Amino acid sequence: MRRLFLILAAVLLLSSGASAAVCPDIIIPKPVGYEVFEGEYILKGDGSDIRVHSADRNFLRELKALSLKDFAYNEAYRLIVGKRGVDIYCTGDVGEYRARQSLSYMASFSDTLSFCSIVDYPRFAHRGIMLDISRNFRDKDFILRQIDVLDMLKMNSLHLHLADDAGWRVEISSYPRLTGYAAWRKGKEWTEWRSSGKHYAEQGSPEATGGFLTKEEVAEIVSYARKKNINIIPEIEMPGHSAELLAAYPEVACLSADGKEKVFSSDVCPGNEETFRILEGILDEIIEMFPSTYIHIGGDEASKSSWKECPLCRKRMEEEHLDGVDGLQSYLVHRIEDYLESKGRHLLGWDEIMQGGLAPSATVMSWRGTANGIEAAAMGHDVIMSPNTYCYIDYYQDAPLYSPLAIGGYIPLTRIYSYDPLEGVPEEHFDHILGVQANLWTEFVPTEEHVEYMLYPRTFAVAEIGWTPQTEREFTSFRGRSVRLVEQLKDKGYHPFDLANEYGDRPESYVKVDHLARGCEVKYSKPYSRTYSADGETALTDGKQGGWAYSKSDWQGFNGDMDVTIDLGKVQPLHYVGAWFYSCYTNWITFPERTEVWVSEDGENFTLASTVTCQIKEGRESGTMYSLFGAPVDVTARYVRMLAVLGTQPQHGFVFTDEIVVK
Ligand SMILES: [Zn+2]
Repeated sequence: MRRLFLILAAVLLLSSGASAAVCPDIIIPKPVGYEVFEGEYILKGDGSDIRVHSADRNFLRELKALSLKDFAYNEAYRLIVGKRGVDIYCTGDVGEYRARQSLSYMASFSDTLSFCSIVDYPRFAHRGIMLDISRNFRDKDFILRQIDVLDMLKMNSLHLHLADDAGWRVEISSYPRLTGYAAWRKGKEWTEWRSSGKHYAEQGSPEATGGFLTKEEVAEIVSYARKKNINIIPEIEMPGHSAELLAAYPEVACLSADGKEKVFSSDVCPGNEETFRILEGILDEIIEMFPSTYIHIGGDEASKSSWKECPLCRKRMEEEHLDGVDGLQSYLVHRIEDYLESKGRHLLGWDEIMQGGLAPSATVMSWRGTANGIEAAAMGHDVIMSPNTYCYIDYYQDAPLYSPLAIGGYIPLTRIYSYDPLEGVPEEHFDHILGVQANLWTEFVPTEEHVEYMLYPRTFAVAEIGWTPQTEREFTSFRGRSVRLVEQLKDKGYHPFDLANEYGDRPESYVKVDHLARGCEVKYSKPYSRTYSADGETALTDGKQGGWAYSKSDWQGFNGDMDVTIDLGKVQPLHYVGAWFYSCYTNWITFPERTEVWVSEDGENFTLASTVTCQIKEGRESGTMYSLFGAPVDVTARYVRMLAVLGTQPQHGFVFTDEIVVK
């Protein structure tokens, strides 16, 4: 009995010791290399047991053998935890800072550390997040709180989207109407503002909601971030997404064809010298406030429609021998780049800045997939990868049915984590890929809690993609560490997505459905969309049903009505025909108004077997939905024709389905 008790006590001691002492295997981003040894050390907590050394000969030799790039060399560190406490070896201040971050990451879970040693340095120079504070304003204190999380994750860049149609968010002294008017609007949330006609409001008027960062607040954010080795990249959008600038300063608007009226689109007028005077005046103050080498000028999604008619734009295109409106956009980007370079800064922009010819030293943020980024790198430009196919965290991260409203799509943690920024990049251009960034646009993210929900844990994945060597990354381990960090963030009062209770992808997408039409030939009376072809002509009878995302999955899209006929091969009794449809209004995908099933024995004479009418009343803000259009039939037939009719639904919409199930 006594012997048994002793054994039990020993087991208890061991297991409690194992759970209390923390190892480097808890850290996000996962360190490049570490070893764990027998023994534990309890941190004193006052820092007196932490010794910092400049890199010794061994460590320098090790770093040299790795032939690290400058940024990685500067951030490299070795951390040793032993019976005398903690020793840090580094090449400079940033390396010491990174070592202390690893230490405090572990200490945030327990002050008892396993004896261990870490050798660590980052894979990419740029590891960042973009936060849109135009669509729904976020204040200084909120931004500082998010910097604390980026800091813990060894990220080094926060890109603030400060200006867009929905509101101007930073004080510019020379242009006071930007914050006295364009920073305020009728409609607290972006969705309210949009649906009520996009009106701005005078600051202080009863209907005004919104806000902006003052110069003092910007200074505080910049200096707070700087102490944590995080750079704040400001973004001032041009020439598109600029309706608020036009509202505050109509001088920058295009003219009507007869030159008599201002045209209030979202684009500034690149034909007008006044536009450049104002943009440069704004950039002067941005440069003064933000020490960032990179100044982001947006450049995406300009409609350029007013430029075609505007006499000033036409004159500019003629005088400068520009190739149409794309050439005019390129002209603006070149001029702004020259201006920024003259101030010692570099231009950064979304990949549309490539249209009409890329400015000579511009850096590209590749968001429309990765191809533009890869092309820019091949042209010798630096690139930051933030493809919407992996890194758009305004998309759903879990089942739309159980999630707050999002813009559409589906990027769960596993999807974002699977991204490698060098994927598809020829090796000789690797050096031009500066790093990775996730973007959080906030059209549908109105509250602080919701922003945090969208940011975490997906930001953890960006941190690890940006830091840890590709060969050292593994999702199961990452997910385990993420669950623990989510719990810690919750304890600190953040509102991350509850990863431990993730629902996961659409259950139907995991198993093939068996039915009479499986493998049967499908005849298309109207073609499917080339962009959303799924598996082509076999997609609707391959047994595969789609996941939550409509792109890159088994959902087949039709630009308008769907009309397909399946040949079952022989006449047989049928009891049911049905199909799931997908809807996401923000992505122009709607449910059909109704589906009709027609059947035939000979393929010539069809009779109507069932009609299903859409029961869901869609709104613009209804998010992503799925609906089964299925009904019992009682017929004998060989041919089954299914029609999905848009009817009164928006005629420019897509219809998406994944499988036509016949029983
Ligand atoms: Zn113009």
